[in-house]
Amino acid sequence: MKLVVATHNEGKLVEIRRILEEDLGEDAANIELVSAGSLHLPDPVETGVTFEENALLKARDVASRTGLPAIADDSGLIVDVMGNAPGILSARWAGAHGHDKANNALLLAQIEDIPDDKRTARFRCAAALVVPDTKAGIASEVVKLGDMVGRIIRKPRGEHGFGYDPLFVPDDQPAGRTSTEPDHEGEPLTSAEMTPAEKNAISHRGKALKALVPEIEALLS
Ligand code: IMP
Repeated sequence: MKLVVATHNEGKLVEIRRILEEDLGEDAANIELVSAGSLHLPDPVETGVTFEENALLKARDVASRTGLPAIADDSGLIVDVMGNAPGILSARWAGAHGHDKANNALLLAQIEDIPDDKRTARFRCAAALVVPDTKAGIASEVVKLGDMVGRIIRKPRGEHGFGYDPLFVPDDQPAGRTSTEPDHEGEPLTSAEMTPAEKNAISHRGKALKALVPEIEALLS
């Protein structure tokens, strides 16, 4: 079965392949993952006002253009004291899309006066699966959520990951590992100090995509 992933990022395909293999075992070999990028499909404008709406609209767009089942995800950072901002605006919080350094600097300035115990936050991911019917309508669609809960620190730490990872300390930590950064030895890791495997095991994206696996499995049978 061909399954199109609504992304232009081939790294996302690798992550989804790994999750499918973990959960489906040998059955994963029956799924051929293809990216929207490799099919030269355009990125739709994300007009949704929730992660769920944006994930669904991306998956619907790909499913209707290809006639194939499609999955898409949409995620962002939710800071409690900011009334759930930056939320769906996470990628362009400081203006330009995907300018991680500027986004992080603006976020830190905005919550500078907030004490450590009130800097709680979460990453949230919505993952959608849309199955088209043979006449290019939608036969079925489902969307699942995953959260990674933690808090925002005051200075970036770590070289892995992307986006707000250097500012985010997840509550779930890998056993027996702490920061080795000077002045921070022994403190919990940011998601940018975790290896990709450590982060994937607890991430919002990993959780949402894993929740979709039974729906994908149903398509195979
Ligand atoms: P996307 O929907 O996965 O492209 O995420 C949108 C934006 O949310 C990204 O550009 C990042 O700013 C932020 N974000 C989402 N997931 C993560 C993550 O795992 N780590 C850090 N930032 C993230």
